[in-house]
Amino acid sequence: MKKTFKILACVMTLALVALVFASCGAKTETLTMATNAEFPPYEYHEGDAIVGIDAEIAQLIADKLGMELVIEDVDFNSIIPGVQAGKYDMGMAGMTVTDERLESVDFSTSYATGVQVVIIKEGSEIQTLDDIAGKKIGVQIATTGSIYAADDYGKDDDGNDNGNVIEFENGAVAVQALLNGKVDCVIIDNEPAKKYVEANEGLAILETEYVTEDYAICFAKNNTELKDKVDAALKELIADGSVQKVVDKYIAA
Ligand code: GLN
Repeated sequence: MKKTFKILACVMTLALVALVFASCGAKTETLTMATNAEFPPYEYHEGDAIVGIDAEIAQLIADKLGMELVIEDVDFNSIIPGVQAGKYDMGMAGMTVTDERLESVDFSTSYATGVQVVIIKEGSEIQTLDDIAGKKIGVQIATTGSIYAADDYGKDDDGNDNGNVIEFENGAVAVQALLNGKVDCVIIDNEPAKKYVEANEGLAILETEYVTEDYAICFAKNNTELKDKVDAALKELIADGSVQKVVDKYIAA
């Protein structure tokens, strides 16, 4: 009798352990991506959803890793601090790899190329990059376009801020300022530029490209485990053509 009881207790313990393991397996780990969903076609709102190239690539990565993707829409300049603080697992926002950012975060392999371009009003006095000096330039706060413009056009002879480079919360607001005549041009990444020009009459993009750059996903510096996992998944998705498929869906060749 006693023996039977022991066996029964044993079986029950094992069953319990199995149950705990099973429920652990069922609870999928989340992958929290911070973005700024004002950057079509990489990330933008469609109804309640955040869609776009970055959102879809992130979903493919999460699927590959068996994780549940959660997208947080925040200001562009909150992405890196939030990732550093561990508030978000990664930042993906058409984000350019720069030496300065590499001091604060790590980047995945690059999955896209971006080009900084200049949006003008049709018939503008600005027809080439040489015409920009002395004009009012709208940029998105904390972006590479903003940093380059400040370096190239934002200083007087003594190196002081000349007030010509004006930062806006995001691309949409900067373009609005151009339409209202508050700035003479907007420096921004080429694909969002195309979308803004399509959506608003009377705008054009200068033919001369300003700067070419690489987009990648950022991670906190101590989070190499996740970075390596995401990187491996991303590299597979690039190699098997899945990333290109997503890009082609949003960007006409
Ligand atoms: N590629 C630019 C940057 O990284 C702009 C990105 C964005 O506005 N989402 O600064």
